Amino acid sequence: MTTTRFAPSPTGFLHVGNLRTALFNYMIARQNDGEFILRLDDTDPERSTEEFAAAIREDLTWLGLTWDREEKQSARLERYNAAADTLREKGRLYECFESPTELDLKRKKQLNMGKPPVYDRSALTLSEAEKDALRQDRPSHWRFKLDHERIEWKDGILGDLSIDAASVSDPVLIRGDGQFLYTLASVCDDVDYGVTHVVRGSDHVTNTATQIQIIQALGGNVPQFAHHSLLTGPSGEALSKRLGTLALRDLRDAGIEPMALLSLLARLGSSDPVELRSNIDELIAGFDLSHFGAAPTKFDVEDLKPLTKKFISNLTFEEMKDTIRAIGVPDAQAPDFWEAVRENLETRSDIGRWWKLCRDGAEPLIDEEDKDFVRDAMRLLPERPWNKETWGTWTKAVQDATGRKGRGLFMPLRKALIGQPHGPDMAKLMPHLQVVKAAQLS
Ligand code: GLU
Repeated sequence: MTTTRFAPSPTGFLHVGNLRTALFNYMIARQNDGEFILRLDDTDPERSTEEFAAAIREDLTWLGLTWDREEKQSARLERYNAAADTLREKGRLYECFESPTELDLKRKKQLNMGKPPVYDRSALTLSEAEKDALRQDRPSHWRFKLDHERIEWKDGILGDLSIDAASVSDPVLIRGDGQFLYTLASVCDDVDYGVTHVVRGSDHVTNTATQIQIIQALGGNVPQFAHHSLLTGPSGEALSKRLGTLALRDLRDAGIEPMALLSLLARLGSSDPVELRSNIDELIAGFDLSHFGAAPTKFDVEDLKPLTKKFISNLTFEEMKDTIRAIGVPDAQAPDFWEAVRENLETRSDIGRWWKLCRDGAEPLIDEEDKDFVRDAMRLLPERPWNKETWGTWTKAVQDATGRKGRGLFMPLRKALIGQPHGPDMAKLMPHLQVVKAAQLS
């Protein structure tokens, strides 16, 4: 049974970087008829909020990334306590008393001497009497004692990896105020929930090394790890500063379609082409983690726009019916109206703009040299009702009367009718134009 999890901390809104992690884990679970867990890493009570947790659920639901089970770390403190006891019994968890300032000083000294800033384990040399004395006047934190050996694993994206445990500080698992840290909680959860695959950002590679040893110390099965590259901006700049503006909910508010986001992020950074898909199943079918590379992945928010536009143009009338009705298009006219505008919508809400233009008319855009031509053309406008032939009949009559042809004929008429040089096929749009302000000028 394949089990994956997406484990955000509810301390902020999800952004495109998080989505990539969520999506990969989701797709692996679905590809294997497995289980996808939403795990809220909320061991930090000060920064985690229920509002952010609710926002995470809402964003995932909007994208259609459904989870089979939800867990939260704050509900499992007893379990983490028990795990800490197990590690203590095995001599793998030891008490330390250095303050943050002291640790900082140690690090600086090591760096000055050209040494890596790895914790020197001096707490291991304390006698029981010394520890008792220290406990009287300062809080203690607890570190996992790494076995100093090479930790190796086959990474699902990065291939064979190994990290020398001696080059890494013994990780702190319990803080001075008693708070369990993510590392311990995450490992317990992965073991208890039978997580088989962990895909996460490459910023977690070192964590993985230490987590493998903790999992083994707890007698659990080590999942398969894979670390995807981090996203950068279009010219390679770090995205982290801009992530605030790339929150999933902001993209949603800007009209970006879920399938545009999913189609891009499910393939970006892989050797497979980014192609718009109409549903998640198609993305799942073609997903292969081994096609992803280690290099940082460039992400350009602009790429979501053409995908969104294309997705909308592919929607059927049935799928858009409610939206079209909601903006006030009469039912009898609605299917044809959809056909007229579907290729010209940047976002779904754009449809309201086209309907308003049809209903109220547009301010004509008439170049100085076209004034006489447009006035003459307006006199030739056919009687209503208009249908799909009206544009052809009218422009033919205008051509006969003025001798203009091609772009010189069509563009001034389009601009006069809809106030802009681009837009829907005029033959399809014309039956819906209820008001033509240019006709009132003559
Ligand atoms: N809460 C952690 C994070 O968001 C989870 C990392 C992991 O997947 O283990 O970075």
